[in-house]
Amino acid sequence: IGQRLRQLQKMEAIGHLAGGIAHDFNNILGIVMCNLELIERRVIQDKTTSSYVKEALNGVNRGTDILQKLLNYSRVDTGKETIVSVNELVERMGGLISKSLVESVKSEIHLGKNIWPVKINSGDLQDVLLNLSINANDAMANGGNLIMETSNMFLDESYVRLNPQVEVGDYVTISISDTGTGMSHEILEKALEPFFTTKEEGKGTGLGLSMVYGFVRRSRGSLKIYSEVGEGTTVRIYLPRAYESETVEKDIAVESFLPCG
Ligand code: ADP
Repeated sequence: IGQRLRQLQKMEAIGHLAGGIAHDFNNILGIVMCNLELIERRVIQDKTTSSYVKEALNGVNRGTDILQKLLNYSRVDTGKETIVSVNELVERMGGLISKSLVESVKSEIHLGKNIWPVKINSGDLQDVLLNLSINANDAMANGGNLIMETSNMFLDESYVRLNPQVEVGDYVTISISDTGTGMSHEILEKALEPFFTTKEEGKGTGLGLSMVYGFVRRSRGSLKIYSEVGEGTTVRIYLPRAYESETVEKDIAVESFLPCG
């Protein structure tokens, strides 16, 4: 059950790892390239040495191209936050996830109108959606419905009083609901703890929800879990609205190299 989803999760993890390595190599090649260019300027009169340097620079450029492809594929933007359209991302990931669910689980996506932009790490949000969908899928061994929903919401004083880690203001919400087993009070209390799992060995790491929580906190958002034993679970995350004036961080793909030396 959910074999394909777990495979997808693994691919994500490998993608992240590869992307991280590619990013480091990209920086190293940057240093190599910088210094080769400095050498090139000094040996401009010396045709033979110049041609060696050119050859080396070509190699570095080819390497950089390959790394760029790997970075694009793995979408790792090393913690960079960009302005993201939640609806676009939920639609794309939702489509991918729905194809991977067991047949007895039906999925629906309800996208809110005019959803505000958010400033987040999009790769992280993809992992979040994947983790929440895996949990929903696992909770519905006998089938059920998975619903992904987006909306705009104003969080007022009364919400902030109970959740002091967020500020009053506009938020975009993403909810993942299932009609699965639900969680008892005891489980709900521990669910966010790293390594807490009720799943059999090899199925759960207990890191899914704590990763989701980490992302939400980093993004200055909030998270709520509503769960009823025998009824199902809704996990809702709130991400603060971003404004047009906020600068979009440059993607790693166009990030300039580190200075020489
Ligand atoms: P894992 O999925 O690896 O167990 P998580 O941190 O994602 O780790 O979840 C911790 C525990 O919380 C799960 O083992 C399960 O008991 C419970 N849980 C999480 N999501 C749901 C859900 N949608 N329905 C029922 N129980 C859930």
